[in-house]
Amino acid sequence: MKIVHVAAECHPIAKVGGLADVVYGLAKAQVQMGHTVKVYLPKYDTLHLHLLKNIEQSGGKKYFHYKNTPIPFTITKGTLDSIPLSLIAIDHTPSPFARDGIYGFEDDPLRFILFCKALLEDLEGPIDCLHLHDWHAAPCALLNTDHKKILTIHNAKYQGECQAALLDTHLKDGPIRLLEEGLKRVDRITTVSPSYAVEIQESDKGYGLQSLFCEKGVTGILNGIDTEVWNPGLDPMIVSQFKRSHLAEVKEAKKANRLSLQKQLGMNPPKGPLVGIISRLVPQKGIELMQWGLLRTLWRGGQAILLGSSPSRKIQKRFNNLRDELINNKDIHFHFEFSEELGRKLYAAADIILVPSLFEPCGLTQIIALRYGAIPLVRKTGGLADTIEDEVNGFTFERAKSKDLDQSLERAFSLYNSCPELWDEMVMKGAKFPFSWKEPAAKYDEIYTKL
Ligand code: ADP
Repeated sequence: MKIVHVAAECHPIAKVGGLADVVYGLAKAQVQMGHTVKVYLPKYDTLHLHLLKNIEQSGGKKYFHYKNTPIPFTITKGTLDSIPLSLIAIDHTPSPFARDGIYGFEDDPLRFILFCKALLEDLEGPIDCLHLHDWHAAPCALLNTDHKKILTIHNAKYQGECQAALLDTHLKDGPIRLLEEGLKRVDRITTVSPSYAVEIQESDKGYGLQSLFCEKGVTGILNGIDTEVWNPGLDPMIVSQFKRSHLAEVKEAKKANRLSLQKQLGMNPPKGPLVGIISRLVPQKGIELMQWGLLRTLWRGGQAILLGSSPSRKIQKRFNNLRDELINNKDIHFHFEFSEELGRKLYAAADIILVPSLFEPCGLTQIIALRYGAIPLVRKTGGLADTIEDEVNGFTFERAKSKDLDQSLERAFSLYNSCPELWDEMVMKGAKFPFSWKEPAAKYDEIYTKL
């Protein structure tokens, strides 16, 4: 089959969150299955281009029309591991992608409309499926009627609000949501976990699109993780690698990784369990619960590290205040940045990874945690509910309440302190999780075939 992915992110060259991991992991699995795959991405200034091989600039400029003006664009092709990428650069003022970030700009809708227009101009020959990811790719469904399309929702909260006139189509002007317009026109809608598929149809987690989701139906396919990218046995960024199937090795290496990380960060020597948070700091992730979880961890005699970055000044200020209050406490460390390296070191060092999300389409941090021998402690919602079973491979709590989180934390600490052999058993159960992309990629295949 010939499959074309359209997305705003792809690991590791352009990553804000889980979308990047999914596009990379799924596309790579599809290449391995023998499909002809291509991923279109904007050519951001911040792209880690040095990670691409076989880079070639496609000959000459191409043009698409926008508001009766021909707009030139160029395509850079390259391979990322085995995945063929096509990167779109657009000559337009203001320049859509020559910025200091991936998104979060006021003109994001226009930036991604232009991206979609350009890539559609570049498409050639028959395609079995145009696979669109989130609102950034949704304009393709309005602008192209030639190909079969599916749209995967990675987060229904982000919808690309703008005026219809911005699309430069026959759509009547007025406020629209690019995601909604795209969803109306695609052949199938999927999302990244079975529970989230139900939640967006039945509750306000659909952010106003519930009836459209119900009408068209949504299939939930749980994400995998790329087992080569996330492999504690070969991860070059961690100090002590370990085979996930050998308990003694896991324990020894985690001890060494923790010691080294805490030393690097100027923390006290290890005592009690180490609780880690690796997250975008946005309301969805449960800001108050995160803060509460950190404080209760200290109160219970554990240690904590938070690695997170926030696009919101207000949220960042809250975390800055907490950091300042605890500035002399060397049992906790805050690092406000996106850092792939620190993230990996923290997964490899932590005993518990805390994910107290208010909603979570799939969530990858809890799955990566299982892979790196850490126990996820998660709120039971969306993909977190589909991956973590209470007191089997992690700890869960139902309501987004500090009391509920604390009760789970208490259970986790009590097991860690009083029943280390049961804790180890849980860590080893985590290793049995079906991590790979094989199964999910086969499910996407089934959907493409039926289009
Ligand atoms: P979301 O896509 O909503 O951000 P996911 O759990 O699906 O959440 O994916 C988050 C991905 O981003 C994981 O790979 C996680 O390790 C990574 N990540 C999140 N924040 C950071 C950070 N500050 N530094 C490094 N990696 C991060």
